[in-house]
Amino acid sequence: MNIVLMGLPGAGKGTQADKIVEKYEIPHISTGDMFRAAIQEGTELGVKAKSFMDQGALVPDEVTIGIVRERLSKSDCDNGFLLDGFPRTVPQAEALDALLSDMSRKIEHVLNIKVEKDELIARLTGRRICKVCGTSYHLQFNPPKVEGKCDKDGGELYQRADDNPETVTNRLEVNMNQTAPLLSYYDDKGVLTNIDGQKDINDVFKDLDAILQESGQ
Ligand code: ADP
Ligand code: ADP
Repeated sequence: MNIVLMGLPGAGKGTQADKIVEKYEIPHISTGDMFRAAIQEGTELGVKAKSFMDQGALVPDEVTIGIVRERLSKSDCDNGFLLDGFPRTVPQAEALDALLSDMSRKIEHVLNIKVEKDELIARLTGRRICKVCGTSYHLQFNPPKVEGKCDKDGGELYQRADDNPETVTNRLEVNMNQTAPLLSYYDDKGVLTNIDGQKDINDVFKDLDAILQESGQ
């Protein structure tokens, strides 16, 4: 099962990805998480990515495609994978298709989670992330059981540097411009499904899961 999860920043990709990978036992590949880990480790990739991320801009395609190519070649992807936050541009989607075609594979589902702009801003500015496992919480919409601590491992919750109101607006604009042609690209291939992301977290998951079950995979 090779899945791409799409949606603007704050749509709930990370939240839903956690649920999908738990049920279907496939790896969750988030380019944003990979860049944040590289920044924390101080690697060359981290240094390259940081200046773009701090402004809410996209990291250049050649850098992003390179890290995805490397990740998909690992054996834990043999039975499928869930891509979250990649591809974000048509050149990235074309590079992904070429890469998979070399492995005699293809993308079976592109699930696009749709949420209105005002709701996205409210979700992003109230988002808090576990320092240990990366799980997303929200101050009002999805609070942890104990304030400031992750339900899963007790890790400290922090606010991402790019989840401030100024950067959020730029990120949404950058992503909206890139997303429309990407949606057409996948729609033309007949693999795109739009999902209403305004519902409760569990209801969104039910809808996503129904699509994955429907296809009998
Ligand atoms: P993305 O990975 O698409 O940027 P996240 O999964 O991190 O989005 O979700 C963004 C924020 O919105 C988080 O604070 C999360 O807890 C919250 N959230 C996710 N899904 C919902 C939902 N269906 N309703 C309300 N809040 C949500
Ligand atoms: P969000 O929660 O906003 O969907 P991510 O964690 O997926 O954010 O991404 C955070 C940042 O990492 C983006 O603003 C961008 O700078 C960079 N990034 C992540 N994925 C990609 C990608 N596919 N192409 C280019 N840049 C990316």
